[in-house]
This record gives sequence, C-alpha cells and structure tokens, in this order.
Amino acid sequence: MARETVRIGTAEAAPGTKATGAVHVANRPDGSPIFIPVMIVNGVEDGPVVGMDGCTHGDEYEGPEAVQTLVAQLDPTRMRGALIGVPVVNILAFQAMQRVTPHDPLSYPDLNRNYPGRPDGGLTARIAYTHFHEIVARTEVFITVHSGASFAMLPPKLIFHESDDELGRKSLEIAKAFGWEILWRNGSYPGTLNGSAERRGIVCIAPEFGGTDRMPQHRADRTRRLVTGATNVMKHLGMLEGRPQLPDRWVVVEGESHLFASHGGLLAYEADFELGQGVAAGQKIARILDLYGNEIEAVVAPYDGLAIMMRTLPLINPGDWVVGIGKYVRVIENRE
Ligand SMILES: [Zn+2]
Repeated sequence: MARETVRIGTAEAAPGTKATGAVHVANRPDGSPIFIPVMIVNGVEDGPVVGMDGCTHGDEYEGPEAVQTLVAQLDPTRMRGALIGVPVVNILAFQAMQRVTPHDPLSYPDLNRNYPGRPDGGLTARIAYTHFHEIVARTEVFITVHSGASFAMLPPKLIFHESDDELGRKSLEIAKAFGWEILWRNGSYPGTLNGSAERRGIVCIAPEFGGTDRMPQHRADRTRRLVTGATNVMKHLGMLEGRPQLPDRWVVVEGESHLFASHGGLLAYEADFELGQGVAAGQKIARILDLYGNEIEAVVAPYDGLAIMMRTLPLINPGDWVVGIGKYVRVIENRE
C-alpha cells in the first residue's frame, strides 16, 4: 500500500524521505516563537509510527544526542512506518540549562507533571498540550528519554507499565525489546507523559541513563545504547529488517524507591556501593558528614534491591534524595 506524506507542524516528509520542522506553541514577549522541534523519517511501506523524545527536563542531554543520531542513521528507503523524533521538548528549560521551565507562575514548571497539558494553561501546560496532542497522539509506541540530569547518575534502566490487560502486555513486550536488563514497572507519577499516553492506549516507555558524567566517550556509549534500544524496538515492530539484540535476562523492579537525607552536609559513599548493582537490607550505603568531617547520618538500605539512582552532587540538603533502590519483583529469562 502506498504510504502518505507525514506532516507535523512545518515538517513534511514524503514516503522514503526525512524532514525537519517545528510545531508552534506560543510567542515570547519579543515576538520570537516558542516551538517544539520535530524530525520525521518516513518509510516506503506502511507500518507503525514510533516517537522518541529528549529534554522533557532541560538538563538531560542524553535524549537530544540519541534522537539526532537515530534520525541520522535511519534509511527511510529501507523502512516501514515512520519515526518521529523530538530532540528537545521543553526548549525553555533547555536554553536555561535547567530541569524545569524558568518562568511559569501559572503551572508547576516540571513539564513531566503537566501531561496531557492544557491549551489555556500556563506555559509548561501549553508545551505539554502541544507535544501530547500534535506529536505523541500520532504514535503507537513512544520512547521518552530521561537521565540523572545535573546532580545524579542512573544505570541503564527503563520504566514501563505493567498490568493484566492488553496495554500492560504490550508495554512489557516493548520494554523487553528495547534490550536493557533493568525494567522498572509503573515507576511514574501523576502528570507524566507515560500515564497520559497509556490512558490513550499508546505504549510509552522511558529509558533513563546517565546524568552528571559527561565525558565524551561515556556520552557516545550512552548514545549508542539508546539508539540500539530504539532500533531494537523498530526491528521488533517490523519497521526495520533484522532481529533485536536482547540480554540473557531482564530484572523487573518496582517501588517509590528514593532514600532521603534528614541532615544537610557532604555526601560520602561507602567503598562497596556500586550503581546498578544489588544492595542488601541493612547495608550501609553512604554517610552524611558535617563541615568538620564528622558522620551525622548513615544512609542504610531498607530492603534488598537494585541501586537504580545515585546522587553524585556531594553537597546535600535535608530532604534531598541520596539513592534510589528498586525492590526486586522477578527475573525474566530470555529463552529465545
Ligand atoms: Zn527527566
């Protein structure tokens, strides 16, 4: 069946071509546009539409690098369906080099607490509304990339939705196809893109990886693994030829898993603590020191689990989170 041109905002990609453009959100006081950049890769045969975005949080640069690299690598003349890439969703937070929208007195300025957005809301709610309705709603599977931003590091892990219905089954299937070992079930909050997409029947997974370590070779490795994950999903869906590269097993974890500091001070990790590895109930993970080097608080694992988040910024305020420990749910062996 002949494919049609894909049009989003000013981007128009005929079958077998790529295109870039922008979706308009609003204008700044000086009249310049606030927009969402889009990159379309339109295949030559019909197939699913998959989306991938970055910089929902403005200081998480793994997403833009992965989207740009994925779009550059795809050959639309050898592809079914379409890929819609959004390198930067919250352009205002991105330019301000921070997590949230810099000026938004009307809505909570974290974009990922504003979905599905409001056309008549504050600026962040309007960005969410435009992104969700003009872009995400056009897809069947959406990949939204996050990281540890400017204060934390995350091992490669992926948030998916687990439930007993068709959507839960598809979400686990796509999460496994991405090819990362650590799967965090239902690790989302009210107002996230994941939740709003799922209520529309769109499978939405959130790979989270990296953060404060921005050495070039490590960035390149993370980009490679994110792009491999996306092409794995596209192979699984029949959009690209070939088989996904899958791990020997997947480890499913769950839980509102942050451990918070009661005291401010300087954070020091124990030598045997390692991100992405298991911790045992009662294991001392870190110490909080006062200005004179005295230990004023011990951070201890409350249960057996997997270290899925780690604050790397040594300064810590009371109430900040130190680490995230995912509770073990089950291991899924890859029998293929
Ligand atoms: Zn994020």
